[in-house]
Amino acid sequence: MFNENQQQHFTKPWYKILYDAYSFQYTEYEDAGNKGGSLLSGHKPICVAEDVYLIDGFDLNIPNRTGSYILIGDKVTIIETGPGLAVPQILAGLAELNIAKEQIAHIIVTHVHLDHAGGAGHLVNECPNATVFVHPRGLRHLADPKRLVAGTRAVYGEWFEELFDPVLPIPEHRLKEMSDSSRLNISSKRTLTFIDSPGHANHHFSIYDSQTHGVFTGDTAGIRYPDLEYYNAELYLPSTSPNQFNPEAMHHSLKRIFSLKPKTIFFGHFGPSDNTTQIYEEVSQRLEDFITIGTQVYQEHGNQTELAQQLFNYVEKDQALVKIPEEHPVRSMIQLDADISAMGLFDYFKRNSKD
Ligand SMILES: [Zn+2]
Repeated sequence: MFNENQQQHFTKPWYKILYDAYSFQYTEYEDAGNKGGSLLSGHKPICVAEDVYLIDGFDLNIPNRTGSYILIGDKVTIIETGPGLAVPQILAGLAELNIAKEQIAHIIVTHVHLDHAGGAGHLVNECPNATVFVHPRGLRHLADPKRLVAGTRAVYGEWFEELFDPVLPIPEHRLKEMSDSSRLNISSKRTLTFIDSPGHANHHFSIYDSQTHGVFTGDTAGIRYPDLEYYNAELYLPSTSPNQFNPEAMHHSLKRIFSLKPKTIFFGHFGPSDNTTQIYEEVSQRLEDFITIGTQVYQEHGNQTELAQQLFNYVEKDQALVKIPEEHPVRSMIQLDADISAMGLFDYFKRNSKD
C-alpha cells in the first residue's frame, strides 16, 4: 500500500516531497531531540567523537541527510562539504566552534558527487589557507566541473538549479590528489590514511582516522537512517547510484574498510555509528539482495520504476521499519534512495549486458 507521500512521489519532485514531509513534522522532531533523543542534530555542530564535530548541511532542505565533519587539531580539517547550499551551514557551524576561516587547512571530499563535493569551490573561496584533497580520478572534475554538472543534471533534471547551482571551479593550485595509502598529519594525535574505495564511484576514497580509529566512508559503506534510531531500530542500505556502480568493487572495498576493524563508521549520509559488525554484514547482504532483485526485474524486461518499487517493498518489510509510524517522512527518504539505487542498477546492467 502506498501512503499519500509515496503516491505523490510519481508526480512531484522527490526532494519537495521530502521537504514537505519533514517540515510538516519538524517541530515534533526538534522536541524529541530536545528531550534527549539523538534524532536531530539541528543547526548547531554536535561533538560525535574526540575532536570530531558533525554539521548538518540540510541537503535537499531536510535534516539528518548529509553532513560535514570538522576535525579539530593543529590543522583544522573538514571532511565533505555537502552541496553548495550547505556551505552557509558549515560557516555558521565553524563560527559556533570559534574556528576562524583562516584556520581551515584541509578540505577533504570522499568523492566528487555534488552532494559531497559541490560546496568545495564555494568553501575554498571562503577559507584562504585551505587545500582541497581529492581522489586522483576526481581532481579534474573539481578543476573544471562541466562534466560533473552535466552528469548531475542527467540524474536530477530540472531541479538541478535549485539543488546544486552554481558549482564553482577550484584553481588547480588549491587541489591535491591523494593516492591509495597516502597519509596526512592533522595533529600529534591524528594522522589520516586515504584508502581507495571504489564501488559507489571510481573517484571514491575513504579515510581512516588514527585518533578515533574510525573511517569516514562517504557513500561506500552505505547510508544510515538516524531517524530510525529514535525508535530503537537501525537500517543500513547500500548506495548503488549511477553511473559507475560496481558491485564487486563495492564488496572488495567493504572488506578492506572493515578489515581495519574500525571502532566507528562516519557516514556521509548521515552521522556516526559504532555498530560496525552489523553495518558490514547488513550492507554486504543487502548489496547481494539488490543485485538479485535487480537482475530479476532487468531480465524480465521490467523498467526502472518497477525496480525502485520492488527495492522499496523489500526494505519496507524489514523488521527495522515495523516500529516506524506509517506517516514518518523517513519512508519518503528510503523511497528516494530506492529510486536512485534503481537508476544505478539499471545503468550497471546496461553497461554489462552483452547486446
Ligand atoms: Zn555519491
